[in-house]
Amino acid sequence: MKPAPFAYAKASTLEDALSLLAEHGDDARILAGGQSLMATLNMRLSAPQVLVDINRIDGLAGINDTGDALRIGAMTRHSDVETSDLIAQHAPLIAAAVDHIAHPAIRNRGTFGGSIAFADPAAELPACAMALDATMHIAGLNGERDVPAADFFEGLYETAIQPGEILTGVSIPKIADGWKSGFMELARRRGDYAIIGIAAQAKFDGSTFGDARLVYFNAGDRPVSTPQTAALLNGQGWSDDMAEKLAASLKRELDPPDDLNADGPMRKHLAGVLAKRVLGPMAGA
Ligand SMILES: Cc1cc2nc3c(=O)[nH]c(=O)nc-3n(C[C@H](O)[C@H](O)[C@H](O)COP(=O)(O)OP(=O)(O)OC[C@H]3O[C@@H](n4cnc5c(N)ncnc54)[C@H](O)[C@@H]3O)c2cc1C
Repeated sequence: MKPAPFAYAKASTLEDALSLLAEHGDDARILAGGQSLMATLNMRLSAPQVLVDINRIDGLAGINDTGDALRIGAMTRHSDVETSDLIAQHAPLIAAAVDHIAHPAIRNRGTFGGSIAFADPAAELPACAMALDATMHIAGLNGERDVPAADFFEGLYETAIQPGEILTGVSIPKIADGWKSGFMELARRRGDYAIIGIAAQAKFDGSTFGDARLVYFNAGDRPVSTPQTAALLNGQGWSDDMAEKLAASLKRELDPPDDLNADGPMRKHLAGVLAKRVLGPMAGA
């Protein structure tokens, strides 16, 4: 199918883009990498009258070391995240996740900020942002505001970004000494959206877990944190008994949806399988 007719505006500065969004209101949509937006237009799931292209705005792309964190510009392509030494060194969870996003051609155009702003519950990066306690930077005509990842994802494709605002970047705390991360997803084919996946991070004293965080994707209408299950790990090491306790707890704590790929009970089972496959090796088991 072809999209409904739309006008196209290329913003040259952030202020320019914000003014265009204010001028056109609900009729406008931001165009970043276009890898999700163009599909929704072509399928006529959405029919905005104006696309505001933010690709030419200086300063929206790039990965910067800000001391305790990395600031990833919203327009940073997935492929640049994938090959970044800063990401490999300071954000191993993101490094492990990013090459599971689609295929190279899509990663060459798709952006970090687009994935976060689109908030697909099956996407990898929103779950990683939650597990890492990331901070989202959002600009509006009245200035910039920061929103913690825990408050950012509000529902199915719903975020704290308000009409007229633009996500400018995401700050990811650098991994500190003693912390480890783990990532895995189950998909029918490499590059497909996951049936379910896990992003995990924990602090270790030897092989004992502390401050564990487990976030699942494609397990609800947004990235789903499982604090009750994670709490079972704290102060404990890895064992077969622990794997069983976690699997039982995940069955209580998760309420995943049914779809063509898997029903809810199957996803609950797979959540336990992923916990075992990711957390055991994190503890050195
Ligand atoms: C075949 C295929 C397979 C894919 N598989 C995966 C996958 O396995 N995992 C995965 O995570 N993704 C997958 N994707 C999606 C891909 O990661 C996209 O890159 C991403 O979802 C959106 O990024 P984008 O830059 O292309 O955004 P766009 O498509 O340009 O925009 C998406 C939405 O976000 C809004 N938006 C974009 N940037 C901003 C911003 N800075 N501020 C505010 N709003 C903004 C747009 O207005 C639009 O509503 C796949 C895409 C395709 C086509």
